[in-house]
Amino acid sequence: MNFNHEYDMLVLGGGPGGYTAALYAVRAGLTVLVLEKLWPGGQMALTHQIDNYPGFPDGIDGFTLGDSMRKQAERFGASTKYAEVTRVNLLGTPKVVEIPGERLYAKTVVLSTGASPRHLELEGEEELLGRGVAYCASCDAMFYKDKTVAVVGGGNSAAADALLLSKIASNVILIHRRNTLRAERIDVEALRNAGNVKFRWNSVVTALLHGEKLTGIQLQDVYSGAESTLACDGLFISIGRVPATQLFGSQLELAAGGYIPAGETTETVIPGVYAVGDVRTKPLRQIVTAMSDGAVAVHMAEEYLSSLQK
Ligand code: NAP
Repeated sequence: MNFNHEYDMLVLGGGPGGYTAALYAVRAGLTVLVLEKLWPGGQMALTHQIDNYPGFPDGIDGFTLGDSMRKQAERFGASTKYAEVTRVNLLGTPKVVEIPGERLYAKTVVLSTGASPRHLELEGEEELLGRGVAYCASCDAMFYKDKTVAVVGGGNSAAADALLLSKIASNVILIHRRNTLRAERIDVEALRNAGNVKFRWNSVVTALLHGEKLTGIQLQDVYSGAESTLACDGLFISIGRVPATQLFGSQLELAAGGYIPAGETTETVIPGVYAVGDVRTKPLRQIVTAMSDGAVAVHMAEEYLSSLQK
């Protein structure tokens, strides 16, 4: 076999964790290629305004931040290939990563594939995507100017989505299956102070009402079981994320929720393979924690690579 193109490191996923790994790797003298299926920044690129990434007193939009991370890593010699990974063999030597029409080889692999929105799994959900159903407020909020929208979820994403929508839509109804949000207090306060946001606690969405487009939703009270309907033009589903780890499950035993078991060192059970950012078991999934993982992964990879030379 010809291993002419054996990289020191392949980075699967160009979010903040992936590009931090690429930056640190290339600055440590490693050859590194980032494989990204969509755009630099990953899910961060869909965030309209990021205010908890230090260094930007006025905040920054996620797309600009993602592209800046790519440029910074590439300034030192990292490269990016826009392709979807179709298969991996992480157990062999070298490690093999396949993209359409090409097979790539590497000594180490960083798994930084991130996560995608969890679906409610309701009938009609897929068909109504873009016709009333949405998973990304920063992408689709402008379609709901002066309309009534519902947001389902109780975490930071739901709160951020509801806040953004409150500035565009006329009415926002935040639906949550419990009676408190787990979102940060600063966002919860802002939602309470917005004049056009109402809360429907202890409620789940049980059906989508629609013709060509969404016209409303059916709700159920989780305690009484009582059903009600709510007329709305849009439903933003912000109920968490599912890690993109399906390709790795046969080689790495995944933890609950599909996350890759890895601690602060980012090492997985496979030597030379590191789990970075939202795909890893961790208490807080943020840009800064993903970036920290990227730097740590390279530190561990350097130790691993020097152990190969002994
Ligand atoms: P999350 O924190 O996991 O919250 C998901 C929410 O959806 C929870 O309130 C959960 O309810 C609810 N939920 C889950 N499945 C549901 C279902 N089938 N039906 C109804 N409700 C359901 O997810 P997230 O808000 O997407 O955030 C993901 C990560 O990104 C978090 O670590 C978060 O802190 C981070 N994030 C940070 C920021 C920021 O700091 N600016 C912004 C966005 C996201 P329960 O509460 O009952 O479990």
